[in-house]
Amino acid sequence: MKIIETAAEAHDALAAARRPRVLVPTMGALHRGHLELIRLARAAAGSGGEVAVSIFVNPLQFEPGSDFEKYPRPQNEDEESCRASGVDVLFRPAGSEMYFADQSVTVEENALSHTLCGKSRPGHFRGVCTVVAKLFHLLEPDAAVFGEKDFQQLAIIRRMVRDMSMRVRIIAAPTVREADGLAASSRNAYLSPEEREQAPMLRAALREAAEQARGGETSAASLLQRVRDRISAASHACIDYVEVVDASSLQARERVTTDSVMAVAVYFGKTRLIDNIRLQ
Ligand code: AMP
Repeated sequence: MKIIETAAEAHDALAAARRPRVLVPTMGALHRGHLELIRLARAAAGSGGEVAVSIFVNPLQFEPGSDFEKYPRPQNEDEESCRASGVDVLFRPAGSEMYFADQSVTVEENALSHTLCGKSRPGHFRGVCTVVAKLFHLLEPDAAVFGEKDFQQLAIIRRMVRDMSMRVRIIAAPTVREADGLAASSRNAYLSPEEREQAPMLRAALREAAEQARGGETSAASLLQRVRDRISAASHACIDYVEVVDASSLQARERVTTDSVMAVAVYFGKTRLIDNIRLQ
């Protein structure tokens, strides 16, 4: 496995051998969800292709006062996980490799970014789009894998690629879950034992809503009410949002259709967890 830590090395090394390349962008603290993305990347790259993983805790996508400083950075374990998963290139630049002190150009998506997580995390998706665009330029992947757990991020990246004419195929990876249904996340480690015990309730509430929708309930308002009631009953949970939206436009929907997704963001203590489900 080749480890690259500077932008210059990335240009040189990757220009040398032009094989199909599939990128998995991450912020590290790799877990089973990331490993599944790497597995899909390997399948997409084929035996003659190359899997690249980037690990970069991107300051631009953290709002002031959020968990940037304390975000886990287990460098050795991550390196070992990449090696064991057959990753060909690990790109883990320092912050100074990615951003100039007087950086004045960013990439901003201006419709999908203003709903759901965009409301409570202003500037977050500008940070995401900017870093992903930079990674695409630096590593020149043919394809890149993103998780459906962050389904708003996936929709925004697809839009950026379309609108900016980027030649990168976007591959969606289904959400990987713990045995009790909680979506695997680097932030799950922040949960206290009591919060961790309650957190799988998010998935249960979403599944119940999907069952009701499949059973014929088409009113988003009544599905939302039941999910809100259920989540609010958990003593450690505090709802940021629960919404029914169209899967591609991310706009709120009053009636459930085949393209509807229910998305939630809920705080357990200080930890904000997100999840989503297709309703039909
Ligand atoms: P992160 O390191 O949290 O920025 O995530 C890097 C990538 O992994 C993103 O595309 C996420 O959507 C994806 N990811 C994170 N957790 C999961 C999961 N539980 N299942 C599938 N993909 C995930």
